[in-house]
Amino acid sequence: MYLVTDSGVVMFDTPWDTTQFQPLLDSIKLKNNKSVILCIATHFHSDRTAGLEYYSQQGIKTYTTILTDEISKKNNKKRAKFLISKDTFFNVGQYSFETYYPGQAHTVDNIVIWFKKQKILYGGCLIKSADDDDLGYLGDANTAEYASTIKNVEKRCTQPKFIIVGHGDWTNTNSLKHTLKMAQQLKKKMIANSL
Ligand SMILES: [Zn+2]
Repeated sequence: MYLVTDSGVVMFDTPWDTTQFQPLLDSIKLKNNKSVILCIATHFHSDRTAGLEYYSQQGIKTYTTILTDEISKKNNKKRAKFLISKDTFFNVGQYSFETYYPGQAHTVDNIVIWFKKQKILYGGCLIKSADDDDLGYLGDANTAEYASTIKNVEKRCTQPKFIIVGHGDWTNTNSLKHTLKMAQQLKKKMIANSL
């Protein structure tokens, strides 16, 4: 997702495919006649962070949380130039939005972006599409806490009009409830297996 403001474009997460880094900047510029000035990656996986170093080199202010940066460093992922230590409000041009860390789920460091005024939730990989059959890659996940983390998102980001998910279709806002249901089922299964 990207946000076009009076002062430039904000990009949320980066492409994974290195051959897409520059073409994405070019097509944003062509369509909007504005350059990307800021980029925030929402967790350490490469489908969010791969472009951070390249975009820093292009003069774009790149951001992650300190936690994401620590994990990225450990896992040899690309890292941002600027770090945020807590939930942060960004004011860019005529828009404002906040980063929110709801707890561990898809990864220990996953954050969401909330446009309170517009009621737009950018969920990243934490929120699955309404037609997804499972929670996707759980290799770095906290399956025990996933459901309560999703509840935190519901509490903080009330009645979103749009929910942008990490992969797949975003038009169906049932995605958040659907993700919660899958997380609750997974937790039940885990408890049953441990008995
Ligand atoms: Zn991920």
